[in-house]
Amino acid sequence: MSDDPAHVPVRLTLQLLACRVPPVRSGRSYYCLPPHAPLHPSYRDERFVILSSGDFTPHDVQRVRQQLEVGLTALEQYIGPVPPSKFPIVVKLWSGSGVSHSYHGGGPIELFWVKEMRSPIIHELTHVLAGYTASNGHWTQEGFASYMQDEYGEDRAFPTAHMAHALVKVISEEATLLPMEYVMRDRNRRTYFGTRTPWERWLAYTQSTSLCRYLIERYGKERFLQLYDAPVERVDFERLYRKTAETLVDEWLSHVRALPLNDAARVYFIQMKRLRGRSPVSQLGVE
Ligand SMILES: [Zn+2]
Repeated sequence: MSDDPAHVPVRLTLQLLACRVPPVRSGRSYYCLPPHAPLHPSYRDERFVILSSGDFTPHDVQRVRQQLEVGLTALEQYIGPVPPSKFPIVVKLWSGSGVSHSYHGGGPIELFWVKEMRSPIIHELTHVLAGYTASNGHWTQEGFASYMQDEYGEDRAFPTAHMAHALVKVISEEATLLPMEYVMRDRNRRTYFGTRTPWERWLAYTQSTSLCRYLIERYGKERFLQLYDAPVERVDFERLYRKTAETLVDEWLSHVRALPLNDAARVYFIQMKRLRGRSPVSQLGVE
């Protein structure tokens, strides 16, 4: 296995779930960073504070800053002006392997894979700025975050690497789709997206990203934002879309299945399928 972020986190073990901070790799092992792991202030303005450890150059830091600006500008087109109370947002850059996350949108944002240009910078920024009520489920929050990353980010980040629809087309052809109704209803945080394996978790992330993309592009962001971060049982799809959730899911799958074949998506799918049967872990390359 390479250092591909799509693979490396699979090796994380359950004990790392107890980490209070992002796990890092040393050789073939992972461990929790000590609380005093060195971080130094690398950039500061009224909106973003970037701390970095390891070997980040000023260019790396400026690239992250620029991606945060791109993400913020894009997000305001969807969610409106961000209130000043949200700032400054603290962003930590970590070298080595690990799971980028933002404490369910509560911040700070912990980023890995920055040097590899595979960091979900805008994904995590979306969690922080758009809000994330984990007890309400995950499909809109994770789906919207990955949609924003794919649409506006320069990094080809996990889980969909700019190919959400093409990946769902392959998933569908290979008959490995999770029932979307099940993904939409799942609100379990510890094993979220109901996953017994990292493979199922990837399916849930990818299907959610593709469905959110479809709803936004077909019916507009305003309607999407009315169901964002809400428990699916409380969403009145027929009032919002004049269609049932089941009809919308059918429409989405028909749309995706009619798209042209994409070889890159098939290769990525095969890589991800190797996650099948792995022991249960709750971490992939992004949260
Ligand atoms: Zn996420």
